[in-house]
Amino acid sequence: MNDKIPLAGLPLDELEEALSPAPAFRARQVFRWIAGGAESFDQMSNLSEEMRRELDGRFLVRQTKVVRRFESGDGSLKLQIELADGARIETMALRDGAKRRTACLSTQSGCAMACVFCKTGALRLSRNLSSAEIVEQALHLKDAVSALSNIVFMGMGEPLLNLDALRRAIAVLTGGGGGGGEGGGARAAKAAFSTRRITVSTCGVVKGILSLAEEGPAVRLAVSLTTADEALRRRLMPVAAEANPLPALKDALKRHQAQHTKRITLEAVILGGVNTRTADIEALKAFAEGLDVLINAIPWNPVDGARFEGKPLCAPSGAEIARFAAALERAGLKTVVRRSKGARIAGACGQLGAPTPVDAPDLGRPGAPG
Ligand code: SF4
Repeated sequence: MNDKIPLAGLPLDELEEALSPAPAFRARQVFRWIAGGAESFDQMSNLSEEMRRELDGRFLVRQTKVVRRFESGDGSLKLQIELADGARIETMALRDGAKRRTACLSTQSGCAMACVFCKTGALRLSRNLSSAEIVEQALHLKDAVSALSNIVFMGMGEPLLNLDALRRAIAVLTGGGGGGGEGGGARAAKAAFSTRRITVSTCGVVKGILSLAEEGPAVRLAVSLTTADEALRRRLMPVAAEANPLPALKDALKRHQAQHTKRITLEAVILGGVNTRTADIEALKAFAEGLDVLINAIPWNPVDGARFEGKPLCAPSGAEIARFAAALERAGLKTVVRRSKGARIAGACGQLGAPTPVDAPDLGRPGAPG
């Protein structure tokens, strides 16, 4: 493994420290170049040749590389990224309409939470990603789709179990104090995200939600609830539900909402015949009371081998989805049914880490002859 320090994951204050004794304005220049898409020090034309050589001897601009790209035809793009230790992760861009380009970033390699409906959970946790490995996903996706409008931490892993790296990555992505100015400045300023356009999706890690409430950053929050029937939730999301009982989760969400006044999304993956009962609707209604929430109902995306209590899980029918959504609305819960993208390339919600279908449109490596 290369022992040079990767710079892409360093917030500005840490970058200044790393480049010390170079003056702080040099760190700002380097920060802007990286945010603007530079992949090597050679591209940083407002640094002297001597400084570029010196930086190249000690640091890396990026440490990860894209090894495969798959495009689904529905606007989604999956990148397989190789980390410095050889491990591979996946990350997605979801294109919607003329302007919306959402990056769906991973925060862990695998996941320890073992939700029964999720391929990443079946892989178990390999390790946390560093802030550089998180930020570089956004940089690679931006290279591929030219601009990003939103970021969701909804890829592989549980973001709030890697909170330090998540916070540092968000600090970088929100501009890290880089500002505008010469040398990559205009592109970097455009690349900086408002926290309003960043969503962290958690399976309900109470400690992490409270930490975000108290110390920020004030990002949007989505909670993968699946059901508000505690007993069923424990069977579907055993690790998350055991450690984070629903009353404590609701208190944490209230705290977060009191601090940040942002609407919270409750995600309910719809598992055919499992969590669309009247009892689930009543439980969701009771859980949502006193919170400002939007229910995001997500028809389950099939994952090979996924079973629940001895039986294969199945996708809900159109009629079951419509019935469930209508019942939630009747119960006074604002509900959106999310049309999943990326299933053709095993990139839809819950599918990351699954083998990509052999007939998926494969764009190969970047720069390789098509
Ligand atoms: S749904 Fe999220 S928390 Fe659950 S196993 Fe999958 S990646 Fe982990």
